[in-house]
Amino acid sequence: MKYPKLREIKEAIKALIKGPATTKYPFEPHIPPESFRGRPDPSQEGCIGCGACVEVCPTGAIKLKDELKTELTSQGSVEIVSGVRYLVWFYDECIFCAQCARNCTTRNEKIPGVVMSKDFELATTNRETLKSEEIKHELILCSYCRSVISTKSHFLYIIQKLGHKSFGNINLLQVINEKLNFPFKEKKFFQFYQRENLYEILCPKCRRRIFLFDEYGYLLKSK
Ligand code: SF4
Ligand code: SF4
Repeated sequence: MKYPKLREIKEAIKALIKGPATTKYPFEPHIPPESFRGRPDPSQEGCIGCGACVEVCPTGAIKLKDELKTELTSQGSVEIVSGVRYLVWFYDECIFCAQCARNCTTRNEKIPGVVMSKDFELATTNRETLKSEEIKHELILCSYCRSVISTKSHFLYIIQKLGHKSFGNINLLQVINEKLNFPFKEKKFFQFYQRENLYEILCPKCRRRIFLFDEYGYLLKSK
């Protein structure tokens, strides 16, 4: 550079007028800029438990666990009766990339499922403390095979978004009709393949098998 010190002199004059660019942290609190990405802060109220954030997290810092409750039937078999989904953010595995907040299904709502906070002071000697509050959601299970479909909050969110169009989906209709949490009834194999059973909360696989039986009258080998 022809005039090597000119840039430095310019910066020094600017600092004399405007003050230094650095802050006195930790002796004075530091206020991060608007675009700063600190600890992801999930919200029980805003989150619908859809799990989209888990899919996009590059480090697997968000743990999703579906806990199913079983009961012993009068016939002596063990039956899944209900389930709860748990979501926890582990900050010791987080790289603060904000993908969870950017891809959160409810990011444009009044209360988003997760936002990037300005909190950067996470230093600790106990890694166990580096996690978010536990987000809990009641699960909706297939009434026949008892596999997990999604959370009740997820269904209610879709219903709210679709409005009257949600009547076109049988599972959503069942939720609207407040027929959730009906006790799981014992069904014999062929009783299941009946038209009235279309109007139950079913996973895509079970509903497909009912449609095939309804259409063709016999079961196709399906994987
Ligand atoms: S900020 Fe990035 S790394 Fe951290 S939990 Fe969200 S998606 Fe995962
Ligand atoms: S609503 Fe947002 S924070 Fe909650 S599970 Fe879905 S993507 Fe994750």
